[in-house]
Amino acid sequence: MAERLDVLIVGAGFAGMYMLLKSREQGLKVQAIEAGSGVGGTWYWNRYPGARVDIQSLDYSYGFDARLEQEWRWSERYAPQPELLAYANHVADRFDLKKDIRFKTRVTAAHWDAKADGWNVTLDTGEVIPARFVVMATGCLSVPTDVTFPGLDDYKGTIYRTSRWPHEGVDFSEQRVGIIGTGSSAIQSIPIIAESAAHLTVFQRTPNYSTPARNGPIPEEEFQEWLKDPRAFRARSRYTPTGFWNDPREDAIATQTPPDEIKAELERRWAWGGFRILSAFADQAIDPEANKIVADFIAEKIREQVKDPKVAEMLTPKDHPFGTKRPCVDTNYYATYNRDNVELVDLRSDPLETFTATGIRTKNRSFDFDAVVLATGFDAMTGAIERVDIRGVNGETIKEHWAAGPETYLGLMVAGFPNLFLITGPGSPSVLTNMINSIEQHVDYVADIIASLNASQAGRIEATREAEQAWTDHVDQSAAMTLFPRANSWYMGANVPGKPRRFLAYTGGLDVYSDICNAVRDKGWEGFVIARGDQVLRASHEFTSFPPPPENMAPHIMEMAMARVEAWNKEHGRV
Ligand code: NAP
Repeated sequence: MAERLDVLIVGAGFAGMYMLLKSREQGLKVQAIEAGSGVGGTWYWNRYPGARVDIQSLDYSYGFDARLEQEWRWSERYAPQPELLAYANHVADRFDLKKDIRFKTRVTAAHWDAKADGWNVTLDTGEVIPARFVVMATGCLSVPTDVTFPGLDDYKGTIYRTSRWPHEGVDFSEQRVGIIGTGSSAIQSIPIIAESAAHLTVFQRTPNYSTPARNGPIPEEEFQEWLKDPRAFRARSRYTPTGFWNDPREDAIATQTPPDEIKAELERRWAWGGFRILSAFADQAIDPEANKIVADFIAEKIREQVKDPKVAEMLTPKDHPFGTKRPCVDTNYYATYNRDNVELVDLRSDPLETFTATGIRTKNRSFDFDAVVLATGFDAMTGAIERVDIRGVNGETIKEHWAAGPETYLGLMVAGFPNLFLITGPGSPSVLTNMINSIEQHVDYVADIIASLNASQAGRIEATREAEQAWTDHVDQSAAMTLFPRANSWYMGANVPGKPRRFLAYTGGLDVYSDICNAVRDKGWEGFVIARGDQVLRASHEFTSFPPPPENMAPHIMEMAMARVEAWNKEHGRV
């Protein structure tokens, strides 16, 4: 068996790279195992045309090193995928990370070894590496769904998946192309594919809300201003619900605002672009009436951009409140449907029946394609973790432990799985936030835990079942307060057949969540048992650090939210 590691990290995306660096700084023996041939995670795999970050790059970048901040220059507000990948490589080279990363290797299993207070980690090479701590830095959107279609194997053209795009790129010129899906990946790639393909047919099952990015170079003045004090900029971003500054208006109630003021505010945010419109009003995520005001505004914007009213109608979301599925941020998405070489097919009224040798047949029509792009999404948040055969103290797998949906303590640890950390795992703010700020918060916290264990010569830390249950209830109740559960979204596990429906992220916000984590630490790691061999060094079973009720919430919104929590409690037998 290989030499024992202190820390084995699964994945070398932004989370894995920072965990590696942080562990090394602590003098730990660490290695990362990465399936790809390079670093970058999401930005290594998702190379489809038009792929770019949809949080501004000055925010979506590491903040742990002042010199790194000063030396890297983003070319645009929203960096394109090649630049993000170049940044990941720059960081890896700058901190000499690659020597501790094993590329083109997968972790297939991790089994708890009680005698060693550690894990035996199996690789797809058959090797077994013992490690005291295992960190799952596997990404939240890294495993594509297994979606398949009748006749797919008979199709003679080329199939591309946005999440596994060929590294050499694809030339669609002169080609008839079909694309299935209208989530963020499709909405970014459709305008670019349309520019080069002879013809593009978009197969849409559910329309999504999308807002314009207003991308462009970062003005020199703005960048110089940022360079003066990136610390202050990041401190402000991190202490927000979303992990980036989105100009929230905590006392603005849409249902009590005159229509002309609503319009002015929404126009201002639409002109600014990106996600700004998500935080126009404090009630829009909770009150359906307030949400409809914002949704109607976006519907109007779709009608303004799309010339054919029938197509505009098809593109207008009707089955979910705005923001309850992850909104998309685009460049020219809606206007692309004004092109002569682009057609939208509504799969609800004309369902896809089968692939054929030459293309796709729907109930009413047949299409011939040289290539079809599948932009059909991911088994989000739990997929990459459950695919590893992780067995804890009782031999139970994590997949079995999560049979009713993921249950974690702080989205960070799982009861029965000591010394196993999840970075931005289910039950943490994660995908509702700027991922890099969430990653840095989590990695710093895990490093604190490990340092604290080492200081007291402890062998392991494990979340208690009581704390896990209390936290999971809190995550469920927090989601129940909002409109999120009303959408059939990947946030709810609804895009994967058979996946339990449970809201996967913590809606309380990154600011609130960070305070909770700090309180847990300051109370001597409440909700955890810390031990060495048979000896329990510290045990604090209960989680008590619930956040205080929001201070500024309007009374009628608070009432609405609390009524939903009561209903959730009743349904789940909680008092
Ligand atoms: P997605 O949002 O889950 O979208 C998948 C699309 O495929 C949906 O339109 C879905 O329709 C459709 N689809 C799935 N199975 C289908 C089937 N059998 N038949 C027809 N249509 C089917 O996936 P994504 O676009 O890859 O995005 C996932 C997430 O990744 C995003 O929400 C975002 O968080 C992240 N992302 C971020 C960026 C960025 O930062 N720039 C870019 C891309 C992705 P239904 O809605 O009807 O299920």
